[in-house]
Amino acid sequence: MKKAKDLNLGVKILIGLVLGIVIGGILWAVMGAEAAGSFTAKYVKPFGDIFVNLLKFIVVPLVLLSIMDGVISMGDIGKVGKIGWKTVAYFLVTTAIACIIGLIVANLFKGSFPMLELAEGAAYEAKTSNLMDTIVNLFPNNAITPMVNSSMLQIIVIALLFGCGVLVAGEKGKIFGDFISSFNEVTQRVMVFILKVSPLGVFCLMVWVVAAQGPKILGSLGLVLLAAYIGYAIHVVLVYSMSVKIFAKMSPMVFFKKIFPAAAFAFTSTSSVATLPVTKECCDEMDVQHEISSFVLPLGATVNMDGTAIYQCVAAIFLAKCVGIDLTVTQMIMIVITATLASIGTAGTSGAGMIMLAMVLDAVGVPTTYIGIIYGIDRLFDMGRTALNIVGDASCAVCVNEWESRK
Ligand code: ASP
Repeated sequence: MKKAKDLNLGVKILIGLVLGIVIGGILWAVMGAEAAGSFTAKYVKPFGDIFVNLLKFIVVPLVLLSIMDGVISMGDIGKVGKIGWKTVAYFLVTTAIACIIGLIVANLFKGSFPMLELAEGAAYEAKTSNLMDTIVNLFPNNAITPMVNSSMLQIIVIALLFGCGVLVAGEKGKIFGDFISSFNEVTQRVMVFILKVSPLGVFCLMVWVVAAQGPKILGSLGLVLLAAYIGYAIHVVLVYSMSVKIFAKMSPMVFFKKIFPAAAFAFTSTSSVATLPVTKECCDEMDVQHEISSFVLPLGATVNMDGTAIYQCVAAIFLAKCVGIDLTVTQMIMIVITATLASIGTAGTSGAGMIMLAMVLDAVGVPTTYIGIIYGIDRLFDMGRTALNIVGDASCAVCVNEWESRK
């Protein structure tokens, strides 16, 4: 990917974010939450939606082509395996740590979590997904539907299979490999066009969130939100600072500064997959090799969700408390295991983590309809967890990059 000519993208995104909060706050204060919410939903959010649509449109070719190109440019299938294992091991270990942090923080807060009545209209029709279905659904039964439905895990499987196919085909696969590499380059350019309007998209979405939600939603759910954000913060400080320092020999401050545009973008778009182009751009700035970031980042945006794992643990403890279930140690262990798996199965799109929360609740016997209690403020959880998710992907990319370049 070419470096963005516009070096100030991060600053522009930050300006869009802050302006969005200020204008959204003013609208909320002047018009009241309901009027401000419907006004911004009608006239401001659509511009943010256009931008998010464009990102969603580019993301399927981007993930497919960049993973294929990443695999092809590694040149031999053994290398794909080596980088693949390191990446997956990093993802799994950090996600399991995230779950443990989530559990500890939630347990510290448990005493002050409110016992809530399930309010009228709070019931949420949860779609439960069981573990075996999630595994079987990784494998597409045709090549077209995953693209149409943006089923990212299936697209990754297709990309890995075809990428490895090109490597194994040798000379005969060369034309196809060159075609993919050229197609990938064109897709990256299209993505750069789209990124140019990202500050405006961020601004519009932020105005809408703040105008519609205001401080009222913080109300009695403030504590569980606080618990989740403390968990996110501990994970960033403990796990990511240490891993980039120890494994990537990089100053955590430099890393956080460079990844900031992507984190800010994820915070507003609430989609790791939609943030992928910005994450890639930030990793380019940190000199991560193209073949590594092309492989690690799309994979991470789809399967590595540390923020989601923390959220699912905190939410499970909170909802269990709300319905009066006192969780045993075995159930807590179940939460760590299922939240790790559920976060892997979570699509990198807005609100997906809340749907997969049903799997965690199921495992410990909390009725899934109670997700309705936190449904209304899910976006606030989602903003932080998505930002954490993509910072985790980038930390993996810089670590794998260092491990590989040492060789
Ligand atoms: N929105 C998150 C992401 O894209 C997934 C989630 O809902 O937890 O990373």
